[in-house]
Amino acid sequence: MSAKLAIHGGEKAIGTRLPSYLESAGRTFGGEEEALVLEALHSGCLTRNGGKMVPRLEAEFAERLGVKHAAACSSGTASVHLAIAALDPAPGDEIIVPPITDIGSIAPILWQNAVPVFADLDPVTITLDPADVERRITPKTRAIVAVHLAGQPCALDELSAIARRHNLVLIEDCSQAYWAEYKGKLVGTIGDMACFSLQQSKHITCGEGGLFVTNNDEWARRATLFADKAWPRDTKTLGSCRFLFLAQNYRMSELEGAVALAQLRKLPAPVVKRRALAARLDAAIKDLASVSAPAVPSNTKHSYWLYMLRVHHDAARATARQFGDALVAEGVPAWVEYIIDPLYLSPVFTGPNTYAASGYPFSAYGSQKFEHGLCPVAERVLHEVIAILWNENYTEAQVDQIATAIHKVAAHFAGN
Ligand SMILES: *Cc1c(COP(=O)(O)O)cnc(C)c1O
Repeated sequence: MSAKLAIHGGEKAIGTRLPSYLESAGRTFGGEEEALVLEALHSGCLTRNGGKMVPRLEAEFAERLGVKHAAACSSGTASVHLAIAALDPAPGDEIIVPPITDIGSIAPILWQNAVPVFADLDPVTITLDPADVERRITPKTRAIVAVHLAGQPCALDELSAIARRHNLVLIEDCSQAYWAEYKGKLVGTIGDMACFSLQQSKHITCGEGGLFVTNNDEWARRATLFADKAWPRDTKTLGSCRFLFLAQNYRMSELEGAVALAQLRKLPAPVVKRRALAARLDAAIKDLASVSAPAVPSNTKHSYWLYMLRVHHDAARATARQFGDALVAEGVPAWVEYIIDPLYLSPVFTGPNTYAASGYPFSAYGSQKFEHGLCPVAERVLHEVIAILWNENYTEAQVDQIATAIHKVAAHFAGN
């Protein structure tokens, strides 16, 4: 007879709250951040044009990653916008995206009047399926946004080959994948451009912020200008300045830059710890038939922004939703099914909800119908996963408690 589930009024498997990214127990802030923030404050200049922290952050980030250029900006979404703006698509150009990601991977495409085209996912890694990407290419396709979901690198060799074959730009969205590796290389160094988020929940953070990287001089210049109103500060005085193209103010402040710089210097420790803790949970649940650990291809190293627990409905005798709700009640911090629907079923796409009733840009250029069945694999796998929030500050004992909770819920549904 299995123990009474917490969701049915039983005792919770995890009695104390685990560290959360929303509080200091679940973050890595310390004296290093404090010193740099005070240095910025005492300098009297809190904007990057005149300050030192953001330029230092850009230089060190590029150096640590081994790329030529980095441009800081105000969010991960903004960093994707820098990439799209650097690419400079014409209205109606198409950019291939995955349907399971943060909306920040996609919204910037629409702001540049291009259209996202959704491609389906590999059911094992939950990242873009290269074969399906290739099927969705048209004469209007300009780029692919490859999202390393949860910290699992995409099939980058295959995607790079497709991009080369069709003359497309490969943009890596590494917001969830700091220091993840593909064939021994850091993600963000393989595509033509890459984007990172420094938002509160990510491996390193300054609350809100983003970083764009590339080896291409032209794109770097255009991205840097795009974050600063296309104001060419390197060549003009204010009095003689002419604004070069339509752009944003996405500047990162010096206070954010100071925190981000201290956080960057702490890598890769948070990633290394997350990996070790994930390996511990993998081992603790490997004998269960009802669930499995994230399957990580042997040529990649996952960075575990999330631990994507897979629920096998038949063996579990429960859906991921039922299993996940029970786990959350036991005290496991998780987003059941990660996001509610593939993004193409969100009102932003099924609208019209923007630019009045025009339906723009889809009404003018859209080729896909945003409805159930567009990406069947994504629709299936989304309902097979529980995204357990992962954190470098979990103790081994806490990971063991998560394992205990999973065993308890599995035993309940199996009727043992
Ligand atoms: C977090 C995230 C973003 C957006 O980052 P913000 O800083 O929240 O704007 C974009 N893409 C992915 C994959 C993300 O996880």
